[in-house]
Amino acid sequence: MGTVVLSVDAELGWGYHDLTAPPTDRVEAGRKSWLTLLELLDTYRVPATWAVVGPLFLSECDRAHAMHPIGDTWFASERDEWADRPDLRFAPSLIRAITVAEADHEIGCHTFSHVDFGADSTTTPIAREELVASLEAAESSPLPAAMSSVVFPHNSVGHRDVLAEWGFTSYRGVGPNGQPPATSALRTIGRATIATPPLVQPYIDEFGLVNVPASMHLYGLSGSAGRVCERLWGDPTVAAACRGIDAATVGDGVFHLWLRPNDLLSDHDIERLRTVLAYIARRRELSGLNVRTMREVAKRVRSEPVSSLQT
Ligand SMILES: [Zn+2]
Repeated sequence: MGTVVLSVDAELGWGYHDLTAPPTDRVEAGRKSWLTLLELLDTYRVPATWAVVGPLFLSECDRAHAMHPIGDTWFASERDEWADRPDLRFAPSLIRAITVAEADHEIGCHTFSHVDFGADSTTTPIAREELVASLEAAESSPLPAAMSSVVFPHNSVGHRDVLAEWGFTSYRGVGPNGQPPATSALRTIGRATIATPPLVQPYIDEFGLVNVPASMHLYGLSGSAGRVCERLWGDPTVAAACRGIDAATVGDGVFHLWLRPNDLLSDHDIERLRTVLAYIARRRELSGLNVRTMREVAKRVRSEPVSSLQT
């Protein structure tokens, strides 16, 4: 029997603060969709790993971040276009909502300010400050446990040695279908309609961290390719996710779904999520499918014999 893992990139405005033209609909949807997602997870008793960017734990900041080696240009949106938008920068009430939810969620780290850890420009001191600032921000919040899981912004894996240095134990790696992105609409459609999203095998990497690779982004098929698919076959993402859940029901691997609250823009998006969560809950009830957080998966992998070690 395999396992389903659901991880959430929780970032509000921070996921888009470095863009010259942030997608307004996604930016503005974040807070409402966050609560919708929590409500649906409670309805189906599905625990998730919420990977949160650091400022969301806070209620204010000096907007200077003078200690940060990335330089103050990186934080320009806090001083400029979002200077009067604390709702896009801070979210202690939304963090609290995770901790008091019925489902037993994990709170993890999505770095402090959504820095691309895999980029050449991200030096070790920058990565270290991103993690330390996140840990400090989280410590100011009444969390059920210290953060142990990391989701890299843009799924761009890097500086894993620094993760280990600061006590993190797991991260979401890139799955077989994760990178590179499909290079054409046809390939995108093929992945969504034909291929079963992969079951992944978490393993301990050379830094002692458990990599829990992603299987599928629940909102990865969008734009014109998505519209073509839906006209022809209904919602192919739901069908693909259900194939992945079925695979986890009969196999031994992990089906790792991920999404952002900012992905939930329409009733259609919410309905997709509801359908997939209902399917997970039904499979769990009928077949004993495991539904676990990244932390729980990592704990189990670390307690296994050393055969799960890969480099
Ligand atoms: Zn992100």
